[in-house]
Amino acid sequence: MKIGVLALQGAVREHVWALQACGAETVTVKGREDLAGLDGLVIPGGESTTVGKLLKRFQLWDAVRERAQAGMGIFGTCTGMILLAKGRAGDNEPRLGLIECEVVRNAFGRQVDSFETELAVPVLGEQPFPAVFIRAPYLINPGRQVEVLATLDGKIVLARQGKILAGAFHPELTGDLRLHRYFHDLLRCGED
Ligand code: GLN
Repeated sequence: MKIGVLALQGAVREHVWALQACGAETVTVKGREDLAGLDGLVIPGGESTTVGKLLKRFQLWDAVRERAQAGMGIFGTCTGMILLAKGRAGDNEPRLGLIECEVVRNAFGRQVDSFETELAVPVLGEQPFPAVFIRAPYLINPGRQVEVLATLDGKIVLARQGKILAGAFHPELTGDLRLHRYFHDLLRCGED
C-alpha cells in the first residue's frame, strides 16, 4: 500500500510515521508527479486558504481531484477536511468537493480554545479516541452516501464517503494509530 502525505504545510512527519507504523510505503507529495501510483493521500492540518493556494500553485489541485475520481483514497484532517468538503453559500474559498458535506471553519473557537477530548468512534472499537482539536471545523448537511463516524456535541467531526475520510481533529499528534490503520484498511478493502 503506497500512501502519500501532502507536504506543503503542517504535521507531515507525524503522518508519515503513523502510516509507516501501519505498514504502508509512504511518499511526501510536493508536486503532481508524486501522486503517481498512490493508493491514498493524507492532507494534513494547516491553514486551509494557504494550502488551497499552494495546491493550485504546484498544479496539484486538479491532479488530486482527478486521482480521487479515479479511485485514490484521501484522508483529510482539519484543513484537509475543509478542503475535501463543499463550500457553503457565501464561502468563496475553493473546495475540492470530494465529500458530500458542507463545512464550517474555525467552528470550535480560536487557537486558544484548542482542546483534546476522548471521542467515541464506534468503527474504531469501544475505547474512545484521543482527539486533538485545533481551530477545528465540522461538517454539516451530509449527503446520502456519507457515513457519519463520529460527532461531538451533535457536530460531525469524522465522516467517510467511499474512500474519502474527513476528520476535524489531529490523529497524528497522539500516538493512537487506529484512525491511520482504519484509512489504510479502507484503501485495501476497495469502495465500501
Ligand atoms: N482553522 C484552520 C483553517 O481554517 C484549520 C486548522 C487546522 O488544520 N488545525 O484552515
